[in-house]
Amino acid sequence: MSTSVSRCEEDLHPSKELNRRGCVVQLPCSIRRIRRRSRRIEFFRGTLTSGSEIDDDARIFDTTLRDGEQSPGTSFSHTEKRRIAATLDAMGIDVIEAGFPAVSEAEFEAVSEIADSVETEVCGLARVVEGDVEAALDAGVDTVHVFCSTSEVQLDDSMHATREEAVERSVAAVERVREAGVDVMFSPMDATRTDESFLIEVVEAVDEVGVDWVNVPDTCGVATPARFHSLVETVAAHTDARVDVHAHDDFGMGTANALAGFEAGADQAQVSVNGIGERAGNAALEEVVMALEGVYGVDTGIDTRRIADLSARVEQASEVTVPANKPVVGENAFSHESGIHAAGVIENTDTFEPGVVTPEMVGADRKLVLGKHAGRHAVRERLEESGFAPTDDQVTEVTRRVKERAESGRVTETDLVEIAEAVTVPRQTESREPEPQRVHDE
Ligand code: MN
Repeated sequence: MSTSVSRCEEDLHPSKELNRRGCVVQLPCSIRRIRRRSRRIEFFRGTLTSGSEIDDDARIFDTTLRDGEQSPGTSFSHTEKRRIAATLDAMGIDVIEAGFPAVSEAEFEAVSEIADSVETEVCGLARVVEGDVEAALDAGVDTVHVFCSTSEVQLDDSMHATREEAVERSVAAVERVREAGVDVMFSPMDATRTDESFLIEVVEAVDEVGVDWVNVPDTCGVATPARFHSLVETVAAHTDARVDVHAHDDFGMGTANALAGFEAGADQAQVSVNGIGERAGNAALEEVVMALEGVYGVDTGIDTRRIADLSARVEQASEVTVPANKPVVGENAFSHESGIHAAGVIENTDTFEPGVVTPEMVGADRKLVLGKHAGRHAVRERLEESGFAPTDDQVTEVTRRVKERAESGRVTETDLVEIAEAVTVPRQTESREPEPQRVHDE
C-alpha cells in the first residue's frame, strides 16, 4: 500500500529512508482538498511589524560548487558539477561560482565547461597570485573573484605577507582582471576579524582601480546580524563597487547574517545548497531565498519549486546528510506529528506553519507522521487515505494502538493497516477515485 509513497520519498531524499522515525507519508488527498489551492498566502504578521527592509533586486550568488565543495570530505565529480550548475541555471540563480580553476586541471576543465554551458553568470575564484588569476581568466568566467587575507592572524600565519604586500597584490590582481575586460570581485578574507582602518584601506585601494564588486566575507563565522549590518554599511561607504556578503554558519547565524547584509544595503549574498561549505558551512541557499521570498516579500526571480530536488541532488553528490530538522529542506520541515498541530494543519495549514512558505513553493510534500504524539484527526485522515471508513470509536482505538506501537519504534503504513484490521475497521465501500500516483501501487 505504501510503495508509491516510499518511491516518491526516495526520489526526494534517497539516503534518508533509514533515518526516519514514525510513519512518514505524503499528505492525504483530503488535506490537499481542504487547502483548496496552491497560492502565496497573505501573511498576517500579528505582532511583527511589516515593512520592506530589502530591495527587490537582492541577488543570489551560489557557491555550492566552490565553498560548498570545500566541505570536509566532499568532492563533486565532473558530471555532478555540470548537473548542479545546470539546475542552478534553470532555476534562475544570479551567479554560479563554479570553482577554483587554479586548483587542478580537472577543476579548470569543469569551470570552463560550466562557463560555456550555462546562461547564468559564472564566477571563478583566484588568490591574488598571477597564476590563479590567469587560470580563472583562461577558464572563460564572467567574473573573477580574487581574495586576499586582511586579518592579522591570517596575514601572519596563513598568507605570510605584510599589510603592504596584501594591498599591492590585491590591487595588481584587480587591475589585471579589469585589463582583461572581465568583471572582478574582491574579497578581503576574514573581513570580520580585520582591523577596521586596514579593511577600509584595502577596500579603497581596490576601489580606485575599478573593482566591480566588494565582498564582505565573515570567513570564520563570528559575525552577529547587528555587527555585520554595521560592517557592511561601513564597507559600502568606502567603495563605489556593488557590495556582496559571504556568511558562515559557525554559530548558526549564517542566514541571519546574509539577510542582515541585504538589510544593510548589500546587493548580493553568497549561499550554498543545504548550507554546505567549510566547517559548519555557509548561509543556506534555501533558507536565504525562502526568507527573502516569504518573510521579506522580495521577488528573487528564482524558481523555488526546484529547491527540494536541488537539495536532494546536492545531498547525494556531497555526501553531507541533510538533518531532519533543517529549515526548508529537512525531512521534518513540513511534517507534523503532535495531535494539536496535526489537527490544526488538517483544518488550515496556516495554523502551525509559517504560511508564507509552503511545501508546494519548494517542491516538497507536507507529511503527517504517526508516532507517540499522534492525535485522532491525523489518524482518521491516514485511515481514510488508506481506504478505511472508521467510526469515531474505531479512530480512538486505532489512535491508542498507534501510540502504543510508537513507544517501541516507528509506525509504518503497514503497521497502520494491520492495526486497522485488528480493530476491524471496515473498508470504504464506495470506490473512491484513485489518486493517479496510487494506480500502480500493487
Ligand atoms: Mn567561505
